[in-house]
Formats: sequence, structure tokens, C-alpha cells
Amino acid sequence: MKPDDKNIQWVEEPKLGLAGRMYLPLFVQGLTTTVKHLVAPKVTVSYPDQEPEIGNPLIYRGVHRLNKDEDGRVKCVACFLCATACPAHCIDIIGVESPWPDREKYPESFVIDELRCIYCGMCEEACPVDAIELTSLYNLTGRSREEMIFDKEKLLSVYDMTKDQEAMKSRSLGGTVGG
Ligand code: SF4
Ligand code: SF4
Repeated sequence: MKPDDKNIQWVEEPKLGLAGRMYLPLFVQGLTTTVKHLVAPKVTVSYPDQEPEIGNPLIYRGVHRLNKDEDGRVKCVACFLCATACPAHCIDIIGVESPWPDREKYPESFVIDELRCIYCGMCEEACPVDAIELTSLYNLTGRSREEMIFDKEKLLSVYDMTKDQEAMKSRSLGGTVGG
């Protein structure tokens, strides 16, 4: 297309007054935004000196836990739905025949690589028995990659650590899955 093409509509450059040429309106606009943020309630904290408050743990996606049923057994039935749904491929399960009459299988091994995880919550969504959940634990640290690979025992210990502060989501959300 050439500059003299009849389909081009040329627009006149707007005439700016003295204030416009000195960027005064934009300056005032920027200053107003700054002052608003100065007086508004703070939304940041000086972590790690200050711990942030988790408003609603039910919608927070932190470290995983494997829930236990009322008999203290792992709730997982080794259906592999969470591992299939996981977009980061960080769940590794070995399912074996269950020693209990109420289910066919259970996880002999259940491993989550917390470093590969993107905390999307798809595993939690996929689980038919609410066995895997994301907790509000966020300050996950380790001195080696191996430490950040959570096995079944560690995931069950996160349940023990959090169960009193954070009810199982299925119950809190009025779900029908017991245990
Ligand atoms: S939160 Fe997402 S990425 Fe992490 S284990 Fe679950 S499904 Fe995979
Ligand atoms: S945690 Fe849930 S979805 Fe994953 S294997 Fe166990 S029962 Fe299936």
C-alpha cells in the first residue's frame, strides 16, 4: 500500500496545549495512582520475617498430602487418575492388590516430585475418593532434589501435620465421600 492510496485515512495530529506539551495531565494521573497505593491497605508482607495469612486454605494450592480414612489407612485406591491427569508427569504410583476387602488395589508406592509440580490442582480434581489434596503449606524447602521427592510416608505425614487445621476438602465442601 502506497502513502497516496485512497483507502488510507490520514488523521490529524491532535493539538496539545502547554499543559499537554509538559505532560502535566499524565504526571498528575501517575501521582494520583502513587498516592492511592500509599494509603491503600498493604497486600504484601516482608516474608520470611512475616508469614502471610492464608485466607481460605480450601482454595490454596500448596504442598500435597495423601489423606487417610477413619481407620488410618491411606484413602488412595491406586486408580492412577491423578497421575494420568497430571500435566507435569510428576506423580509415580505402584499399585498392588489391596489387603483390605473394601477395595481392589492400594498404592504400594506413591511418589510426587514437588519440584516438577506446577501446583495446578488437576490431581485433586481427578481423584474419585478425595485421597490427594493440596494443602496451604507453601514454605517448602530442601537441601537436595531428592528431599523434594515426596514418597507415600512423607505425603501421609503432611496429612497428619495438617489435618487439624485443614479439614478434608470433600467434607468442608459438602462432598459425599466419607472416610
Ligand atoms: S498439582 Fe498439578 S502438576 Fe502438581 S502433581 Fe497435581 S496435577 Fe501434577
Ligand atoms: S490419589 Fe486418587 S486419583 Fe490418585 S491414584 Fe489414588 S485414588 Fe486414584
